Amino acid sequence: MPLHRGDSEAPDDKGDRRRLAVNPFYGEANPAGGMTQAPPRHRLPDSPLPPSTAYQLVHDELMLDGNSRLNLATFVTTWMEPQAGVLMGECRDKNMIDKDEYPRTAELEKRCVAMLADLWNAPDPSTAVGCSTTGSSEACMLAGMALKRRWARRNADRYPGARPNLVMGVNVQVCWDKFCNFWEVEPRLVPMEGERFHLDPQAAAELCDENTVGVVGILGSTFDGSYEPIAQLCAALDALQERTGLDVPVHVDGASGAMVAPFLDEDLIWDFRLPRVASINTSGHKYGLVYPGVGWALWRDRESLPEELVFRVNYLGGDMPTFALNFSRPGAQVVAQYYSFLRLGREGYRAVQQASREVAGKVAGAVEELGDFRLLTRGDQLPVFAFTTAPDVTAYDVFDVSRRLREKGWLVPAYTFPPNREDLSVLRVVCRNGFSEDLAELFVEDLGRVLPELRRQPHPLTRDKGAATGFHH
Ligand SMILES: *Cc1c(COP(=O)(O)O)cnc(C)c1O
Repeated sequence: MPLHRGDSEAPDDKGDRRRLAVNPFYGEANPAGGMTQAPPRHRLPDSPLPPSTAYQLVHDELMLDGNSRLNLATFVTTWMEPQAGVLMGECRDKNMIDKDEYPRTAELEKRCVAMLADLWNAPDPSTAVGCSTTGSSEACMLAGMALKRRWARRNADRYPGARPNLVMGVNVQVCWDKFCNFWEVEPRLVPMEGERFHLDPQAAAELCDENTVGVVGILGSTFDGSYEPIAQLCAALDALQERTGLDVPVHVDGASGAMVAPFLDEDLIWDFRLPRVASINTSGHKYGLVYPGVGWALWRDRESLPEELVFRVNYLGGDMPTFALNFSRPGAQVVAQYYSFLRLGREGYRAVQQASREVAGKVAGAVEELGDFRLLTRGDQLPVFAFTTAPDVTAYDVFDVSRRLREKGWLVPAYTFPPNREDLSVLRVVCRNGFSEDLAELFVEDLGRVLPELRRQPHPLTRDKGAATGFHH
């Protein structure tokens, strides 16, 4: 959540901005007779409104939100079948934590964990452990905590003097910066170099020492959709262990890719088949194809998740072990995940992800053909590609493109890369289920249409680069 200040209007602004405008038509529904009083915006109203009036006011305000189908910035699911919506509606009162009251919801969560353990090739799916979360961020916090606790156990004699560190590419999603900040772990970042926009296995191994709790590998990178070389990372850490005795576990942040690679890249070895991979997370609400609010964290076996991090509470009845940062949480998203698994199966997921990747490849090719752009990735790993302006384009930059596309309704973020490629600014297109070939064609046409004017600019125009665009993870 953004951190909101209580009242965003200026304190001396006592005019209309501080009250909601009520259409006289709505006022007629006021059962108390007379016109409905305009309710204040930033204070709890003194008296109730009729439900129809309240509904209209909220509904009208939300009309100006964007059209999610034209949002090429987000990875998060924006369309599910009506049946999924019905199931979610049926479960909106169910609290995920209340496993004694809702044992069937708990059972569906358990089945999802088992399906993922199987999908990710856990050596023994019956001893793999896992849980649902609110998203990948919470899942990464839990996985990071498990790594940190295992390190603390190994270093019981050195602790608390030593400072733990976590090794990862500079391209990690912000949740890993949060993890390091909140849990006081030193982030050790492998920078980008040249045309390498994610972690280098050898460089990662060189950053490890006896206080490294683990290395994070990303499948795939938020910045450009590329898969990090997980198997090579594990091999580099195997070599490190042979040389130094250091045994550093790997966590795979598969927020997007852990629901893509198993279906489209079966020959890619990135998961629990690699003995060094201790845990994996994914976002059920990204390529897991569920509306926002669900993620998953899995550990290869019980040893990888220290038992003392798991809590049992008995005050809701029952005694189910849980591992989570929060307590109460809706059950609907977990039910929707189970629905999607059941509904699509492996073949269905393969078909849906394949379609997204084909669209990504076609759009990337069409963007390249426009002649003004250089592709950094082609959408052949995650169905996501990043591109920048060609070297001879000087009249405009990626921020101008983002701004002009927004005028056409398309949300395409532009952003600068992290060290050591801060010189590089890119645009990124995320192709999700629902971004059809037809929409993709319209997008490329619109992109082509803004170019003639952009080429006539005297120089890049977007001053407030931050406001022009949003980098949506
Ligand atoms: C999106 C993303 C996250 C955060 O996931 P949420 O489900 O939005 O919390 C973490 N890591 C990567 C690589 C991501 O793409």
